[in-house]
Amino acid sequence: MHISVVGTGYVGLVTGVGLSNSGNDVLCIDIDEKKIKNLRKGISPIYEPGLEKLIDKNISEGRLTFGTSIKDAISSTEIIFIAVGTPPQEDGSANLSYVKQVAKDIGKNMDKYKIIVNKSTVPIGTAFVVEEIIQKELDSRGIDVEFDVVSNPEFLREGAAVDDFLRPDRIIIGTNRDKAKKIMQKLYIPFVETPNKILLMDPLSSEMSKYAANSMLATKISFINEIANICEKTGADITKVKLGIGSDPRIGNKFINAGIGYGGSCFPKDVKALNHIAKTLDYKSLLLEAVEEVNYNQRIKFSNRITDYFKDKKDVKLAVWGLSFKPETDDIREAPSVDIIKDFLKEGYKIEAFDPQAVKEIKEVFGNKVKYEEKNMYKILKDADAIVIFTEWKEFYSPDFEKIKELMKSPVIFDGRNILSQEDMQDYGFTYISIGRKDIC
Ligand code: NAD
Repeated sequence: MHISVVGTGYVGLVTGVGLSNSGNDVLCIDIDEKKIKNLRKGISPIYEPGLEKLIDKNISEGRLTFGTSIKDAISSTEIIFIAVGTPPQEDGSANLSYVKQVAKDIGKNMDKYKIIVNKSTVPIGTAFVVEEIIQKELDSRGIDVEFDVVSNPEFLREGAAVDDFLRPDRIIIGTNRDKAKKIMQKLYIPFVETPNKILLMDPLSSEMSKYAANSMLATKISFINEIANICEKTGADITKVKLGIGSDPRIGNKFINAGIGYGGSCFPKDVKALNHIAKTLDYKSLLLEAVEEVNYNQRIKFSNRITDYFKDKKDVKLAVWGLSFKPETDDIREAPSVDIIKDFLKEGYKIEAFDPQAVKEIKEVFGNKVKYEEKNMYKILKDADAIVIFTEWKEFYSPDFEKIKELMKSPVIFDGRNILSQEDMQDYGFTYISIGRKDIC
């Protein structure tokens, strides 16, 4: 099939690459010319394991192309994916202006049957809004062209995006139209072992499923953090409690790791957006409000623990391990590291930070106020008063503790992701402060 993807970010690029890899001809377009220039040379604008290899393969086999012209994206294809951003606005609602702009452009340039597939995460009812915008443009041009708008939310996880797209748990197709249903099923069949992994539903339920999924996952994280905070008061250990509850299959072990809370471009924005949607419909979601508040407090609490610890000390130097909002990505959007480093800088601390992927991104936030390192995680430890772990990159799980102690001024670790063992910390003589567990002093 001939497909275009409008918006070549995390979702659009992975979608375009994934669909070209199953034999489709895909044109990915973006308004960011630099991004497109690099992509044409096979350079990915984002770090995602396995992505560049697939970009190269599909470019060289002639199925994947990149451009900046929305007209090309519309004229040459049967299916147009919308994968532009829907960032949060001041009041928490999703900013739909990018989606609406693409809908307008489609209406202005379309001249035969198309399926418009919305992959962006959008408020419930947006498929109808997109349909109206396109129809209005067609009416103003005085032409009658058939088209269908489909909701097809994306569930990929950054850091595992390629794998998630190629082997999804489920694919949701939200449309009431038979023709679009059949074409979309055909498009996605190569990605599922059994057709029943393709879930067909109406567009409203499809759009809601995406917000509900992210809100559920965010709720699990805030729940376990709430329990971790109570563990700290009672002397229970959250890592043991996690095992105690996670072995119940109704609860499960995933998404119940206590820490400094969720970040990223999706959970914070989607919980806010769903909460806003509920409010506008005169429904107060007590749970979603609590999920947000618990998550926000979690980073403040961690930050305060560190600043309290050093309140009587001058010339504090902190070594930060991990900047991205989670491992295996360079994404720092809404990352706890950003807020907490801001607090540290206000305190006048000297900050040196290591991250294997996100240094370029964090430099855009802090410039030369922070010193950075992306190759050697030990290099920033010289004379540090403490290590602060924000992201659970694999290399932090089993470091050389003797070497760390030799380099640091004082052996202190604040672990925002509970990745180190308390026994190790005790044996090596560290002061170790983590989440929902006893401090090791
Ligand atoms: P992104 O910011 O990485 O990418 C969006 C891209 O769209 C940018 O490159 C931007 O330049 C481009 N763009 C904006 N307007 C355009 C236009 N008119 N024409 C062409 N290109 C245009 O965003 P993302 O993280 O890929 O997210 C996209 C959507 O998918 C959001 O709604 C998000 O909530 C949702 N989503 C994201 C993820 C994720 O993990 N990032 C997962 C599932 C769903």
